[in-house]
Amino acid sequence: MQPPDFIKKIPKVDRLYQQLSVQADVQHIPRSVAIQTIQYVLETLRQSILDGQKNADDISEPLVLEEIITQLIRKMQPNLRSVINASGIIVHTNLGRSVLPAEVIDHMVTIAGHYSNLEYDLDTGKRGQRYKLVESLICSLTGAEAATVVNNNAGAVLLALQTLTAGKAVIVSRGELVEIGGSFRIPDIMALSGAHLVEVGTTNRTHLKDYETAITPETGLLLKVHQSNYAITGFTASVSLKEMVSLGRSMQIPVMNDMGSGNLVDLSVMGLKNELMVQEVISAGVDIVTFSGDKLLGGPQAGLIVGKQSMIDAVRKNPLARALRIDKLTLAALEATLRMYQDPKTVVEKIPTLRFMFRQPEEIKQCAEQLLESLGKLKPETVHMTIVKKDSKIGGGALPLQTLPTYCISIVSESMSSHKMDQHFRTCKPPIIGRIEDDHYLLDCRTILPDDIPVVASAMWGNDE
Ligand SMILES: *Cc1c(COP(=O)(O)O)cnc(C)c1O
Repeated sequence: MQPPDFIKKIPKVDRLYQQLSVQADVQHIPRSVAIQTIQYVLETLRQSILDGQKNADDISEPLVLEEIITQLIRKMQPNLRSVINASGIIVHTNLGRSVLPAEVIDHMVTIAGHYSNLEYDLDTGKRGQRYKLVESLICSLTGAEAATVVNNNAGAVLLALQTLTAGKAVIVSRGELVEIGGSFRIPDIMALSGAHLVEVGTTNRTHLKDYETAITPETGLLLKVHQSNYAITGFTASVSLKEMVSLGRSMQIPVMNDMGSGNLVDLSVMGLKNELMVQEVISAGVDIVTFSGDKLLGGPQAGLIVGKQSMIDAVRKNPLARALRIDKLTLAALEATLRMYQDPKTVVEKIPTLRFMFRQPEEIKQCAEQLLESLGKLKPETVHMTIVKKDSKIGGGALPLQTLPTYCISIVSESMSSHKMDQHFRTCKPPIIGRIEDDHYLLDCRTILPDDIPVVASAMWGNDE
């Protein structure tokens, strides 16, 4: 047991606060935050003395003050921060998916700082509708009759299903009952929408006949879902959209396609196969299509719903649409992003997600060489680095089996395991998120731009404590 007077050794709150107010690093911190932090540090200290983990004789005011300052500096950093994505995964949901182009950000900033015509028709002076601001753009890019937008694609799927199928049966192939991650599962969304799920086919093979025999007077929709983050290979069969559309037409049942990523540019030029463009899905005659704003499209988080006028009208009238409505900053970013698609020659250069995908291995290699040189000047002697050829993933539930050739910097330390290194680089300013492959720590240069090189180099070894 500690002697009862050990408490006396713990510095007083007021005195510590006074000492803090002369420390340049933390002078600007609001009093309430400082006091709270002091109390927290002192309480932790008291507890660790009581638990016998610390000796009261070791307490000194400078040490306590140092701990408080460390805590305060940590507390004053924003919780949501920018990081360097050296994972090589282009559309990384945990890292915020898409990076927006500078022009898009400028437009968002203007809208954020001013009043706008968000729901105000400047021609008539009457109330307007926010989705109208992007509808004609989306229609001209996709060829759809009508379009609307909501908060995200999960919301878009829920809204479309609830509007078109509540109380009815929806036919889906067993191979498409996917879980996207973050607890988005097609069967759950279906249940939430009030639709009744009818599974057809088997995991690996589904035929048109399976859909045909499942159709009853209760059937409200034929649904095709992008398999997203997984793929079935080997002995497989699935029904094409065209076949589903002609079946739907003959039975007067609408066909919906949840595309997930939903790209507007042709990815086959990069050797990426089997990914239909939204335009192709629309021209195949699908009645309603949903896709994300921040996956392959490279814009802000949003859910785009495109298709037949009557379907979109019904979706808009659903009260759930109000609960899922898109925010004005997102809408500003979405419009500016979509405008970039009007010029197919420059869009790939302008939108970072597309630029990262289309980046040539030679260019990535040059970037890796530059980064290696910058890092080499700063690195400790016990660290060894080499450039290695690897593969990057696209992410975002797009093209799970296909990868893009890339170059990485492989880092080996004599004193740190790859996991320790990973942990260490995550605490840099800005944090650096690499990846570990076969116990090697890698910085994939595909998603690192030349402008980031000095930032990465100094964050890793330049501004050490
Ligand atoms: C990603 C994805 C969703 C969900 O989209 P969010 O934009 O994350 O809401 C839904 N369906 C499929 C097939 C997906 O790949």
